[in-house]
Amino acid sequence: MIAQVALAIPYSTPYDYVIPEELLSQIQPGIRVLVPFHWRMMIGVVVKINSSSTVKKLKEIREVVGSEPIIDSRILELTQWIAQYYLSSWGEVLDAAIPTSLKPKVEKIVQIKQEAEKWALLSPETQQWLLTLQGMKYSKLSRTPSFQQTQSLFKKVQRQGIIKFEFELSKFPTSSQQEEWLLLHPENLKQLKTRKGSKASLIIELLQSKVREKRQHLQEAVPNSGTVIRQLLKKEVLQTEWCSPWDETEKQQIHWDKFLELNPEQQKVMIPIQEAIQEQTYQTFLLHGVTGSGKTEIYLHAVRDTLQQEKTVLILIPEISLTPQTVHRFRERFGEQIAVLHSGMGDKERCQEWWKIKEKACSIVIGARSAIFAPLENIGLIVVDEEHDSSYKQQESPFYNARDTAVKVASQQQCVVILGSATPSVVSFHNAQEKKYHLLTLTKRANQQPMPKSEVINLKEEKRQKGVFYLSTYIVNKLRENFEKKKQALIFLNRRGYASFLACTACELPMLCHNCSIAMTWHQKHQSLICHHCGYRENYPQTCPACKHHKFRTEGIGTQRVERDLKILYPQARFLRMDRDTIQKKGALEQSIDLINQGKVDFIIGTQLISKGHDFQNIGIVSIILADMTLNIPDYRSSERGFQLLSQVSGRAGRGKDGGGMTLIQSYNPEHYSIKTALDHDYLAFYRQEIEMRSILNHPPVSREILIRLSEKNPHHVQQAAQELGAILQGQAITYKFQVLGPIESSIAKVNNRYYWEIHLNSNQIGRVKGFLYQLFWSSKSWSPKGGTRISINVDP
Ligand code: ADP
Ligand code: ZN
Repeated sequence: MIAQVALAIPYSTPYDYVIPEELLSQIQPGIRVLVPFHWRMMIGVVVKINSSSTVKKLKEIREVVGSEPIIDSRILELTQWIAQYYLSSWGEVLDAAIPTSLKPKVEKIVQIKQEAEKWALLSPETQQWLLTLQGMKYSKLSRTPSFQQTQSLFKKVQRQGIIKFEFELSKFPTSSQQEEWLLLHPENLKQLKTRKGSKASLIIELLQSKVREKRQHLQEAVPNSGTVIRQLLKKEVLQTEWCSPWDETEKQQIHWDKFLELNPEQQKVMIPIQEAIQEQTYQTFLLHGVTGSGKTEIYLHAVRDTLQQEKTVLILIPEISLTPQTVHRFRERFGEQIAVLHSGMGDKERCQEWWKIKEKACSIVIGARSAIFAPLENIGLIVVDEEHDSSYKQQESPFYNARDTAVKVASQQQCVVILGSATPSVVSFHNAQEKKYHLLTLTKRANQQPMPKSEVINLKEEKRQKGVFYLSTYIVNKLRENFEKKKQALIFLNRRGYASFLACTACELPMLCHNCSIAMTWHQKHQSLICHHCGYRENYPQTCPACKHHKFRTEGIGTQRVERDLKILYPQARFLRMDRDTIQKKGALEQSIDLINQGKVDFIIGTQLISKGHDFQNIGIVSIILADMTLNIPDYRSSERGFQLLSQVSGRAGRGKDGGGMTLIQSYNPEHYSIKTALDHDYLAFYRQEIEMRSILNHPPVSREILIRLSEKNPHHVQQAAQELGAILQGQAITYKFQVLGPIESSIAKVNNRYYWEIHLNSNQIGRVKGFLYQLFWSSKSWSPKGGTRISINVDP
């Protein structure tokens, strides 16, 4: 028998391998196997079993990895679809679907063959030395300092067959890890006397209210209780049980009392969703509701209805909004039957959550992009919150979009999918207009508050604050009033650091990153220039690399700079900066959110991080310092991004009981339709203008797009390759009905010492184009670049 094995190799289709007799009974689709591939050993996933192969001289499968299929048939089918749709290799998609901690490493183990022909010819010292290597891991051996000197000898005896490698897999969990639970022994408890309020009695009280509890939880609940617990175990008042980490008794709980009664607008939206859930049919809803309109409440009701149908739920949330508060809102209603997948979690924790899903110990999964691969069965509902968020699109191979994949999963599973947003993506809204999605709208805030009032300040005309060139006097005064009213202000700027860059005062040249073709950002606090692309750092320059002049000035502004200037303007106020520099540490984001909610800060200065999700109660003013920053990026989506950002940020204002928030936007271009429509909270007006522009310019969603990117260390080689490929594509454009734009140098031409070129393909018949590209790069491989040029193909970039 022959197994088709998908390997994580770009531009590959599954490879055929012979299944050895003794492994026949274990091999089935979805199981992983160790196979030889060229000079190495790789782990791949069996995707199909055939009785024969067209390939001659097949190699054999070496070993089965894990006793059961890690990929079930649903995920197998899904990953195949992703590979086809996004033009990536099936093996790469499968690799993305398996959590890192479940991937064993392949270790090479040194084996010395004394029976080899040339062994006897070696000197006794060499023989001695070789015998000491017997059984060593090659990865460890090659790291020893002395190995450098002996390497050539090692290679030589390897060629002579004296050294062979065996392969060993590192350990990985094949089920959830058991944990220690404690329970009371009622008989022995009677004998025990405890003082009220003592640690022992606290622990007993906790255990009396439930069947059992994790030892770790008890120790967290009663601090420093380790010794007491040990004593109680010794007296056999407590007993230990090792079992799966989740509490079966908590499964399938719905806390009915926690649900809010839906308002009339929400009720209307809920009816068709409820019907679709009950009928268990495939339907995509686009839930367009202004910020604070109660979309999350709709999700919660829909989840409840789905659980009552004995079905499971997948909830996707952008990484950045997947905070403990969000999860708490679900836990409060549905107890512990939830698994959370989040890249901020440690590998071990993630792995446990994955097994919780696999072992069917939960019926709700909440996670970011890659949770789309969660091994959930019997799905009845998928929710994609903030569906417009760009983080749903993976920016490396495989370039899948989790939102669009969610719609595919729903159609495969015949279930309901809700895409929710205050600012739907133009693509999704277009689908709703075309009746592919069912549009549902919430126009009012759920708690009756008015939408925040907005004002735009024209930076071309307004008077500026003395000493703070980027702030209008108007805003400075408004912020002061707000502070005096004891309201918080949220200051948004889409750039962290102090100044955007340092420029030479003589030649005006900005200080560029050594690896990338962009200006480095000046961080006052670290007194260093940092590249926000590759992380490269440099001290304050001594001389300008271009003209050797030695004076520099800071240009542009960043969050650090704004913080410093505002501190001077409002010396009495308390400040909090939230950007990637201050939020990096685990728990820092939660701490900051607590500070805001407890009213311990007056000014919050931040980037993108503060634009989403959070439901702060006491924000009086939201101020966007420079709206043009997002709008001026040379990309056809910049108006859309600008509109989304302005709407989301201004949505943070006036969410408290007394409402009345205000958004102040500074701009050099106040007439821009993204700004005007965002100020009026008028999505439809924005959409109409935007779709008209895109129709004229033939941009998605009117057409579809594929982006081909080439990169190389040598700028000439990559240019040559891009031109060669461009000519081939141009030659086929009429036959396959597509338009070629480029090749052009990427807007950031150099990243991490690699030079980038790109070619855009546009078409109304994307299927044909993909067919052609598949033929070019996969089946015929009729063109491939020379040397070190890498190519990536990004469908729906
Ligand atoms: P969104 O997800 O659209 O931003 P949320 O669901 O977070 O909106 O709701 C915003 C606020 O309104 C929350 O504080 C929520 O508790 C409240 N809310 C939502 N629905 C209702 C309702 N039907 N009755 C009362 N308050 C509600
Ligand atoms: Zn860089």
